[in-house]
Amino acid sequence: MTGAAAVPIYQVSMFDQPGLDQPGEFDYARSGNPTRKSLEGVLAKLDEGAGAFAFGSGMAALSTVLMLFSAGDHLVVTDDCYGGTYRVLTKVFSRFGLKATFVDTSDPDAVKAAFRPNTKGLLVETVSNPFLRRTDVTAMSILARTYGALLIVDNTFLSPYLSRPLTEGADIVIHSATKYLGGHSDVVAGAVVVRTPELAKEVYFLQNAVGAVLGPQDCFLLQRGIKTLQVRMERQVRTAGALVRWLGTRPEIREVFYPGTGAVVSFRLAHDAMAATFVESLRLPLLGVSLGAVESIITVPARHSHASVPAAERERRGITDSLIRFSVGLEDVEDLQADLANALGRSFREAA
Ligand SMILES: *Cc1c(COP(=O)(O)O)cnc(C)c1O
Repeated sequence: MTGAAAVPIYQVSMFDQPGLDQPGEFDYARSGNPTRKSLEGVLAKLDEGAGAFAFGSGMAALSTVLMLFSAGDHLVVTDDCYGGTYRVLTKVFSRFGLKATFVDTSDPDAVKAAFRPNTKGLLVETVSNPFLRRTDVTAMSILARTYGALLIVDNTFLSPYLSRPLTEGADIVIHSATKYLGGHSDVVAGAVVVRTPELAKEVYFLQNAVGAVLGPQDCFLLQRGIKTLQVRMERQVRTAGALVRWLGTRPEIREVFYPGTGAVVSFRLAHDAMAATFVESLRLPLLGVSLGAVESIITVPARHSHASVPAAERERRGITDSLIRFSVGLEDVEDLQADLANALGRSFREAA
C-alpha cells in the first residue's frame, strides 16, 4: 500500500509463487495482470456489469465474443455495422461455419423476420455508421429473449457515459476503447462487459485461451483516459448539439444526421465535388478513420470507413463523397464553426 494516486504499470509476464501447493492470485500475465485487473474493475463498474475484460483492440474483443458460438450457429447483425465487424464475420468466422444475416436493426420487424431456428445471437450497434441510426436495445432484448439468443451490443459510439445497454437487457457490451474510453488517439484497445457471472466465466476462459489481452502499458493509458470520460463527453455532446443546429442553417449542406445524443455528427454536402476541397480546407480536425478523441476527426466514409464496401452497394446506401462524418473534439465551438464556415464556403464556390 503506497497510496499511489494512479495504478502502477506491472510490466511483467510471470509471478513467483509462494509455494508448490499455494498458488498466488497471479501466475502468468496472459491469465491475469494487476494493471489489467484494475482497469477491468473500472470497466465493469462503468457498464454496471458482472465482469469486464480488456483486449488488444475492439476487433480482438468482438472476435473473442464471437468464439462463444459454434459452427452452424446463426447471428442477426446490424446492416450498417462497423466495416471491420462485417469483414470478420463474412471473411473469417464464415470459414468456421458461423452464419450471419445483416438487417436494419432500427426496425424490430426486420430483425424478427431474420431469426431462424439456429439463431444464437443478435449483434447490434447502439448508433449505426455512417447514418447514425439508433437501435432500441430494450426492443432487441425482448426479441433476443424470446428466441433464446444472446444480445451483444457494440456501444463504441455512445460510451458508458451516455448509454448502458446491460441495464436495458443486453447480455454483452463491446467497446472499441480506442475511441471514447481512451479518448486521446494514443491507444488501441477493446473491452467486453457482461451481465452475468456465468458469462463472465465463459468470456474469461476465452480471453485466457485465445490470448488477445491488453498489455499493461496500454491498460494504464486506457485507465487514465477513462478518468476524464465524463468531462470530455459532456463538453463534446454540448458542442455537437450546437454544431448540429448551426449546420442545419448552412446553404452548403443538404442534410444533417444526428441521433439526438453523442458527439458524432454526419452531414451531406450539396455536391460530391465539394468533398476534397472541403476536407483539405479544414485546419482544426484531423482527417482519417477514427473517432471519439480530444481532437475533432473528419471522415469521408466513402473513402475511409466504408471504402471496402462495393461501389454499387455504397451508392445504393447513399454513401457517396458528399457524406461527411464529424467526430467532435474538445476545440472551442466558435473556432470549429469558423473553420467549417471557411471550408464550406470555399468548397461550395469551387464546385459551383
Ligand atoms: C473502431 C470500431 C471498432 C473496432 O475497434 P478497434 O479498436 O479499431 O479494433 C468496432 N466497432 C466500432 C463501432 C468501431 O467504431
